[in-house]
Amino acid sequence: MKYDYDLFVIGAGSGGVRAARISSLAGAKVAIAEEYRIGGTCVVRGCVPKKFLVYGAEFSQMLADAPGYGWTVGDATFNWPTLRDNVQKEVTRLSGIYATNIAKAGVTTFEERAEVVDAHTVRLTKSGSELTAERILIATGGRPYLPEGLPGLELGITSNEAFLLDKLPERALIVGGGYVALEFANIFHGLGSKVRILHRGDKLLRGFDDDLRAHMHIEVERSGVALTMKATLTKLEMSGGAIRATLSTGEKVDTDVVLFAIGRDPCTAGLGLERAGVKLDDEGAVIVDEFSRSCVPSIYAIGDVTNRMNLTPVAIRDGHAFANTIYNNLPTPVDHSFVPSAVFGRPPIGSVGLTESDARRSFDLVDIYRTSFRPMRNMLSGNQERTLMKIVADGSSGKLLGVHIAGEDAPEMIQLAAVAVKAGVTKKQWDSTMALHPTAAEELVLMREKVASPGSPA
Ligand SMILES: Cc1cc2nc3c(=O)[nH]c(=O)nc-3n(C[C@H](O)[C@H](O)[C@H](O)COP(=O)(O)OP(=O)(O)OC[C@H]3O[C@@H](n4cnc5c(N)ncnc54)[C@H](O)[C@@H]3O)c2cc1C
Repeated sequence: MKYDYDLFVIGAGSGGVRAARISSLAGAKVAIAEEYRIGGTCVVRGCVPKKFLVYGAEFSQMLADAPGYGWTVGDATFNWPTLRDNVQKEVTRLSGIYATNIAKAGVTTFEERAEVVDAHTVRLTKSGSELTAERILIATGGRPYLPEGLPGLELGITSNEAFLLDKLPERALIVGGGYVALEFANIFHGLGSKVRILHRGDKLLRGFDDDLRAHMHIEVERSGVALTMKATLTKLEMSGGAIRATLSTGEKVDTDVVLFAIGRDPCTAGLGLERAGVKLDDEGAVIVDEFSRSCVPSIYAIGDVTNRMNLTPVAIRDGHAFANTIYNNLPTPVDHSFVPSAVFGRPPIGSVGLTESDARRSFDLVDIYRTSFRPMRNMLSGNQERTLMKIVADGSSGKLLGVHIAGEDAPEMIQLAAVAVKAGVTKKQWDSTMALHPTAAEELVLMREKVASPGSPA
């Protein structure tokens, strides 16, 4: 054999693990390197631990809603170390399952950092050994972006550290307006912290539908999280046991935790890719084609490091498609159309397909259907939280282009709505489905009136 391995995968996260396992099962000799913990961001410090914390945080709303349903709730207290440690136990269990599965598939694992030396060589940085492979797959994911140069930056944390805090902060300042910021605001607020979001923009959740963004602004504030928009941080310093944050407005905010959730960078720094001739974009992401191939024929990249659509199921599909294309003789281009996504905020969001403004840019006629209501579940409790549902359809063909929901169970609903949108269902077919009563989801098939459709007699 000309090389030590057929395939060397750098990064054992969602994408890398899937690609390594399927390639090995197809008969390739595969190695994988991981510098932190097997399982990657999703399992260790992303989706999985986050969702457990969201579940934990939801109890406070349930307790608040309970009296309207006749329940008398005694003095409920919350213990952060119990939740934190239970989550970490589960993370360790899942990471172990990942490690076992790749070993069972015949993959050799190196638990250390790997860097690219040239088109067919990687170096393991701890042991210093160099290994060759016919192909190298970059699956190194992303890492939280930090505002380098901010005075007192070291006093802040990122989502990485948020899972492991010694104690629940009494006050938390969350910097950013994306999904990670909203989810941690929901988590800390639900668990009992006083939370403020600081965002430099004037709207939350860039990239989501504008109606949804406006709805979330109202609901996040209603939930009790303070929003400071159009402002940034200029300094962090310690002051009498608290972190004092100075804002661009001049306001000073004392807090116990400052969490930066201002985006993520692809993990390519110091990886040696430029040395091997691999082209990166302005943000450091590996530029790849539809088969995840970089400009160097033996080097491929999948998942967050390509910054195409930074979600776990996408990284997994990318990895599987790569393995099928190369080792199963099944050329599989990756399909990133109509990928559903969720924000586990208060209320949660589920979204798939085009936003109204995206649709208006690409289609001559766009039909919009929208409804906003207080769900039945909130009536007896007095909870004022509202649900928003919106459908974007092509006014000519009638095909659904996007479905956007903010409200209880929205992520669960959107997975199924995504099946219909992806299948190219028309609004007429969608509406022919019988409602399921009494649910919030039934409103999705009962939106008959167009609310806006410039260019057509609505
Ligand atoms: C707080 C948070 C919440 C999230 N929630 C969701 C969610 O609800 N749903 C969803 O779909 N997605 C979510 N994501 C995104 C999701 O985690 C990522 O899209 C997914 O993990 C990407 O998989 P990946 O394989 O590309 O990279 P990763 O899972 O990040 O794996 C990359 C791995 O490579 C390792 N690595 C990096 N460099 C090297 C090197 N040189 N040598 C060896 N190893 C290296 C890293 O340690 C890491 O383990 C969330 C992310 C965060 C941060």
